[in-house]
Amino acid sequence: MPRVYLETFGCQMNELDSQLVSSQLRTLGYTFTPESDQADVVLYNTCSVREHAEQKVWSRLGELALRKARQPALVVGVLGCMAEREGEALIKRMPVVDVLIGPAELDKLPGLLDNALRTRASLLSDETVQELAATPEDEKPDVSRLRSARQVALHGAGSHGTTNRRSSTLAAAADSLELLDLSRATSPDDHQGSAYVRITRGCNKFCTYCVVPFTRGAEVHRPPGHIIDECKRLADAGVIEVTLLGQTVNHYRFEHDHAVTIDGLIQPQKGRAYTHKQGVHHDPYKLAKGEDVTSFADLLFQIHEQVPAIKRLRFVTSFPRSFGDDILQVIRDCPRICRYLHVPAQSGSDTMLKAMNRGYTVAEYLEFIDRARQFLHQPEIDRPLTLAGDIIVGFPGETDADHQATADLLRRVRYKNCFIFKYSPRPGTIAEKNLVDDVPDEVKRRRNNDLLNLQTVISDEVSRSFVGQTLEVIVQGLSRREQKAARRAETAGACSTGASGTSLTIHGKPASASEHETTVPTDVPSADSAASRHAPVQLQGRTEGDLIVLFEPPVGVDPRDLLGRIVRTRIESASALSLFGTPV
Ligand code: SAM
Ligand code: SF4
Repeated sequence: MPRVYLETFGCQMNELDSQLVSSQLRTLGYTFTPESDQADVVLYNTCSVREHAEQKVWSRLGELALRKARQPALVVGVLGCMAEREGEALIKRMPVVDVLIGPAELDKLPGLLDNALRTRASLLSDETVQELAATPEDEKPDVSRLRSARQVALHGAGSHGTTNRRSSTLAAAADSLELLDLSRATSPDDHQGSAYVRITRGCNKFCTYCVVPFTRGAEVHRPPGHIIDECKRLADAGVIEVTLLGQTVNHYRFEHDHAVTIDGLIQPQKGRAYTHKQGVHHDPYKLAKGEDVTSFADLLFQIHEQVPAIKRLRFVTSFPRSFGDDILQVIRDCPRICRYLHVPAQSGSDTMLKAMNRGYTVAEYLEFIDRARQFLHQPEIDRPLTLAGDIIVGFPGETDADHQATADLLRRVRYKNCFIFKYSPRPGTIAEKNLVDDVPDEVKRRRNNDLLNLQTVISDEVSRSFVGQTLEVIVQGLSRREQKAARRAETAGACSTGASGTSLTIHGKPASASEHETTVPTDVPSADSAASRHAPVQLQGRTEGDLIVLFEPPVGVDPRDLLGRIVRTRIESASALSLFGTPV
């Protein structure tokens, strides 16, 4: 069976998509390799949110073009947002690509891949392959006839930067994608105690800078029964931490037995009015009492009650508008729901927020943060609320005063970490079409560094506030220090013995270039092999508030036994990036 190399770019949503397609391909007999050059099929699951992520893919494809001249049977696939955004223009620019699949069509990957492999095999006899491999670079024949092997599945028009959102087939498309999530096969070896579960696809917000509504299509909420069943199956496979995923996860809302309109909005039934009480924070989408609707608060509560084996339930990404008290109450009342919110502000300036079409003001954002703290911040019982954010610097028209307002917001909110991005115009978005990218790159870079420096000081202070507390930590694998040491040992071993791979290498995991990186290698050595290296092994885990904790396992405990488990750890010291603790 062909060996597949799959590399994932971008966010957690892409990581989940990669897990789903790999599980589907594994079920069909494909095997995976962590080395691109040993693969028969190379797949890139791409991200279009920022230009930088796309540039990496273009350069990888450029490298593959050279390789394919030597290895014409190689099949190359581009999956995800870049495939959807660029459409067939991508193949014109990079003829090396055989398979192109948008994020709304990923369920079609096995069929298309099989077609591509078969077509290539029938066009290329074994002798031809050997002959080509032996031919010098400058004498290689034209292999353009192999273009007939190409397989494309996109939901939009696919023209550069102008892809359509899913239209009349919304429900059908959602159904077949639903099958992809439902077909997930999880074995105890597939995870280290944690897993993602999608609750909402797509987005309807149309923030002016953002390509997601174009590439991932209209918002569709998954049925709560499917989500709860998936959580149960994951729990049966040993998962103890589930992260629910959606672009605006708190706007989850499933109306039972109710049609979805073609633009993805739920049509209120005749004669039914949405409740709206002045001055009371509630879910504005929630129907009057007695209506058959599952809100986000309901969903959280149901998972908490029906799947107690999930010891930690968290969710990303929250949208600061319409985050009801009902959700905060459920988080407060359910001990296994994490007191952690990733709630991007994007800017601390009302002018910028308006230009970005975010739909809230700085005052409204801060009101939400204060309200969330009131409900959830309880350091006295070792359950503080931690916050994470995203900021875009250098959006069109951003002045020094706007930038200072964003710095003030960081000081006021005190995130435990904040992702700071330089604005990059994305083709087809409202900002790219209507606004001039007028902040020079040098200014963007300076503002980016300013905020990163400020956030480092804040993160350091937030981390230090945990010293002396005893926190529950889910053990994920080796610390980065150990990973580096393992790689050095591996290189040295390979040089001296000619062998590759040691007991410390990363196995079977798709590589990831995520800015929200959470993946750590887990091929942890046994207590015996750690002892033979004369140094205690350092492990890495995460707290309820998503802080990284580094610690050494107690003497005599096999580190492998701790993987995917919760270990109570006393925090002894801290830095901006990590806490250092001792298991108690
Ligand atoms: N749905 C989430 C929300 O609204 O908060 C964000 C999802 S987006 C995939 C992740 C982050 O990428 C955003 O929060 C934003 O900070 C950043 N981003 C999106 N488009 C961008 C662009 N054109 N330039 C720079 N950063 C961008
Ligand atoms: Fe993009 Fe805005 Fe939707 Fe987030 S809410 S995915 S930033 S359009």
